Amino acid sequence: MLKYEFVSGCVGNVNTPFTDDEKNTACIVVTTIEHLYLLLGVSLPNERFVIKKFPKGSMPPRFCLARNNPSALANFICIAMDKLSYWCQAIFQLGHEMTHAAIHYNSPSNTDSTSWIEETICEAMALFFLNVFSINWDKIELSKSNPKYAPHIKSYLKDELSKVGSGKLSLCHNYDELKQIDADSQIYREQRENEMHELYKLLNADNVRGLLLYRWYLQSDPLLLNTAKYRKAFPHNAAVSYLCDLQDSIFSKETSEAD
Ligand SMILES: [Zn+2]
Repeated sequence: MLKYEFVSGCVGNVNTPFTDDEKNTACIVVTTIEHLYLLLGVSLPNERFVIKKFPKGSMPPRFCLARNNPSALANFICIAMDKLSYWCQAIFQLGHEMTHAAIHYNSPSNTDSTSWIEETICEAMALFFLNVFSINWDKIELSKSNPKYAPHIKSYLKDELSKVGSGKLSLCHNYDELKQIDADSQIYREQRENEMHELYKLLNADNVRGLLLYRWYLQSDPLLLNTAKYRKAFPHNAAVSYLCDLQDSIFSKETSEAD
């Protein structure tokens, strides 16, 4: 298990410390996610890990490596919330960022995120965790203070799933377009929204692990997967197949146009 520390992020002169209540909420959410990951065959190491809280809108939530932040004593997650009492949003943000962490700790050590793939996976996993929390609410410690909260999580999930994207990723038909979608993946999430929902619908307890291991199947150009190798390693994994189909369809369009 990761050893969590909860600290205040500082923007300008504004500090946003965790209250004891918020620490408790964040701790329950991240340890529940870590426990769920373990059940899915994905483990996290026994090392120090920091969760920093920033005011809403001050910065995008993110996962950061200590190696890229010389002043950091450990890898850390930044969340952007004024209060953690909005549990749906806490599960949503922490589900996404903990997935970046889970991918990092289970990938070759010298690799980085390939954004068009990894953001899509983390967004889909955030929805997956909302669903799991809502279904198993009575088993989650937060239910003691609000046993009737599950319908709020369900409706938050429904709202997320009702958002319609532009389908840009599916319509993409060459390398340069994919490169642009990758560069924009944290700014224009709607370019991958529909595809992310499709991926979410395919997720189950048996296929999440294969999906999180995608970095093992990147080509020397890390924008691209070696889809043949990846498919072969996970032959019955619908989530992995969907990701490979997305990429392969881009290049089949490119080839047919060249014909
Ligand atoms: Zn992300």
